[in-house]
Amino acid sequence: TNMPPPAKPAPADASTADASTAAASASAPAIPPETLSAIKGLSPPDLWHHFASLSSIPRPSRRETAVLKYVKDFADSLGLRRTEDAAGNVCVFRPGSGGGEDAIPVVIQGHVDMVTEKNADVDHDFDVDPILLRRFEEEGHGGKVATWIGARGTTLGADNGIGVAAALTLLGRPADVDVDGGGRPLPPIEALFTVDEETGLNGAMGLDPEALGLTGRTMLNLDTEEWGDLYVGCAGGGDTRITLPLSRVEERERAKEEDADVLEVRVEGLMGGHSGINIHEGRANAVLLCASAVRSAMKAADDAAAAVAGGPGGADGTAAALVSFEGGDKHNAIPREARARLLVPKSARSAIEASVKASEEGFAAEYGTLEKGLKVSVAADDDASSPPPLDGPSARRLLSMLLSLPSGPLKFSHVIPDLVETSNNVASVSAAASGSSSASVLCSSRSSVGPALERVRDRIEAAASLAGASSVVRSEPYPGWNPDPNSEVLDVARRLLRDRLHGAEPGVKAIHAGLECGLLREKMDSGDGGGGGDGISFGP
Ligand SMILES: [Zn+2]
Repeated sequence: TNMPPPAKPAPADASTADASTAAASASAPAIPPETLSAIKGLSPPDLWHHFASLSSIPRPSRRETAVLKYVKDFADSLGLRRTEDAAGNVCVFRPGSGGGEDAIPVVIQGHVDMVTEKNADVDHDFDVDPILLRRFEEEGHGGKVATWIGARGTTLGADNGIGVAAALTLLGRPADVDVDGGGRPLPPIEALFTVDEETGLNGAMGLDPEALGLTGRTMLNLDTEEWGDLYVGCAGGGDTRITLPLSRVEERERAKEEDADVLEVRVEGLMGGHSGINIHEGRANAVLLCASAVRSAMKAADDAAAAVAGGPGGADGTAAALVSFEGGDKHNAIPREARARLLVPKSARSAIEASVKASEEGFAAEYGTLEKGLKVSVAADDDASSPPPLDGPSARRLLSMLLSLPSGPLKFSHVIPDLVETSNNVASVSAAASGSSSASVLCSSRSSVGPALERVRDRIEAAASLAGASSVVRSEPYPGWNPDPNSEVLDVARRLLRDRLHGAEPGVKAIHAGLECGLLREKMDSGDGGGGGDGISFGP
């Protein structure tokens, strides 16, 4: 949430004249003196003045009225046309200038809301108080001391305040002044300000291109945080919910319970993490480890019973019976914990314990260097209210299905090295919990390629169908953005950024998670099947 000011001082040209334009807007906030002194002398001054103004207007997600008023009043003060849609997104149109009058329009996009977090010892009301800026020197990359703008104990809101400030700055540049001192013409600009990005891309989700009158097919999204990197793709996603009917052992067939213990097998202490951002790291999934440990333990109990009795031990060929299975909670998190309860004949208890120990050792051999907190345990559960256990076939169907669901990275991109293109997270399971007679399993799949996302969901459905699922429901997917190696905008941006990086090659990257760009590109699709035209995402 810190960002460095530009390295070069501003040339003494007309760009310095615009700070007053921002201040003249009707809804210009009172900028606290400490914020003004933090940006003093930074260049370009109009950009920093907009950023200071935005910082002085409270703008948590879903409470963007005031900041949108600032944007709209600024557009009005310049006499620029503006539009708005029902979701609250605003678009401001600046005609092309300096020779760019007839160029194709460029959409410049950022979100106006910000994340609101503060240090525990800071007294700050994000609905009322301005963010206070401070300027400081700190060692950055390569041990070089740089000047930074930060906030006083709160989030700064440079995500995406600096992008919004950059778009406003471009809008405010007078038509007869060369941009950047380089004599470059400006194409028609459609500056798109979206709302409510931080709580789930809701502004982009509800964006209405027709109501906004968007015509541009070339988009520059200003919401990438890493200086020197250009983003050219993101993942779409969709959830799949499986319902698997389960049967319980009939009362009369139940093993004599005085001879049996209820044991709980637990997998815990895993790293978990984001099911998109962390999926390529090979972190363990607690639901899958637990299913594997339980399956092995039940088999070990069967083997032990067979050795004693010369035949299968349980009523239906299963010595240990599964009572319930639960793990994971959020759809976008890799499960950190899972647990299963088993009804186990006393004679098989030691076999179960030995098997769980062996599973833990096996998992440690595979994941131990990464998953340092990994723990697999089995202990008696003295909860007397255990419902009748599942019958053998139900337990086998459930465990087999869990173990055959696709999991983790499934394919890497051929365009961006090391980018996960398609993945699945077996996100949560709740089976026979609190007396229910079914299992509910949630998978969260992602892909930057739309058809590939549906193929993963086909695989999930296939495994569910083999296991006897009664329903498989796919959520409406949100679109991804498949990296285009032949992007013209990428080419231009690369060339320009290379100069700014003094010849160093910009990173060209994509992210295995949702971005506004994916949604906006689909919304702006002209219907030719080419997505929303060309675009990149970068930090100004
Ligand atoms: Zn952002």
